[in-house]
Amino acid sequence: MEVEAADPAAAAFEDAANVSATMAPGAAGGAAAELVAEAPVASGDAAMTDASDSDSDSDSDSGSGSGSPWNIGFVEPCDARLLSRQFFPSKVGGAPAWLHPVDVPTAKQLKCLYTREPLDFLLQVYAPVDEEPTAFHRSVFLFVSPHGGDAHRPGAARAFRSQLPRVNPFYPDEPADEDGPLQELDEAQQRAYDARDDRWADRPTDVGAVVRKPRTFPEYELVVEPETLDDDADAEEEDRRGGFSESEGPPGRRGGKLAPSDANQVPEALRERGADVSAAELLDLERSIQDKDQVQLSKFHLRLKRSGDPAHAIRYRFDDGAKPLWPSVTHAPEVSKRTVPDCPRCGSPRRFEFQVLPQIINHLGVDSELHSALDFGSVAVFTCAASCAPPEEEPGGAGAPAGADGTSAAYAEEIVLVHPPMNA
Ligand SMILES: [Zn+2]
Repeated sequence: MEVEAADPAAAAFEDAANVSATMAPGAAGGAAAELVAEAPVASGDAAMTDASDSDSDSDSDSGSGSGSPWNIGFVEPCDARLLSRQFFPSKVGGAPAWLHPVDVPTAKQLKCLYTREPLDFLLQVYAPVDEEPTAFHRSVFLFVSPHGGDAHRPGAARAFRSQLPRVNPFYPDEPADEDGPLQELDEAQQRAYDARDDRWADRPTDVGAVVRKPRTFPEYELVVEPETLDDDADAEEEDRRGGFSESEGPPGRRGGKLAPSDANQVPEALRERGADVSAAELLDLERSIQDKDQVQLSKFHLRLKRSGDPAHAIRYRFDDGAKPLWPSVTHAPEVSKRTVPDCPRCGSPRRFEFQVLPQIINHLGVDSELHSALDFGSVAVFTCAASCAPPEEEPGGAGAPAGADGTSAAYAEEIVLVHPPMNA
């Protein structure tokens, strides 16, 4: 784990063969904060391969010292210019800084499958993969339903992966000059892009014309850096005990309805017994479910606290065995081959890449009173473990027209699982 104080733009081109995380510090507009995603490492660490025990996930990675294989991302103000695509930003809000600037996702791809409305752009993470030549540049884009309270419904949050080799029709193979002109498309590329009718496109405004701009969240840089664990004894002790002392009682009630009462949380065992359950048994059962959730919520908060700064907005770790940290057990999305199927493009398994924490919502200027306000417990994104190459396109970068199925070839859809809001 190493932090490079490199020139921000140059950092995007860093040869990072031996560096698992490279980060251009936010100073001087470090718009090129970069995540270098590692290929799977054959590791003897049992924790890395243990995918069966959800209780062991959050701490198994912190065995030695204060190091951690996780990267964490913070939301920070930044000169908007440095968040444009040629600086390969990780960012929140504003318009997507499309990596492949021509064959952008289609309206069909950018639709909420729950409300059928166009999705809002939430964030993008720049995360090249060294081992895959077509992923010299690589970004993952995350979109959420405009009905933010429903972001956990199936298809209400969607993610797309785009990648390019070092030599490509859109960017020089050396870092862009921060003070240089913004990168423009050539005519053929521009025509192909215009045909896509990108909702976030900057369009010339005719006098008197009504230009409908999509709603955007406030724009920030997502500054990503290696996590440094703050392992004070108290935290460890609390962690072991499940995070709360007997005297203060379990936390969580205050925040809302983690305590489950809906019927679908009454487990199989009881349902089988039907009406043959006493009120006391039911209460006991509810309490045990509730305790499990409260323990998990405590673990969730403690784990974030151990990061030194619990205000981080994303957690990133793209290697085998990394798992999302959910704020509850009973509402945690199932992670399985059913919910995270193999990559349809290459057949490789998908694996966890990053999760977004609810802390990010504080930066989005949403009115939490509205049902449309974005809200979630956590959002986890799973991507093709091989970061497989997009299909070959015509030379020149004008891209292919949207495929027969009406989707962009340059943006592969990946999998998003959303833990519902904690007080839903
Ligand atoms: Zn794939």
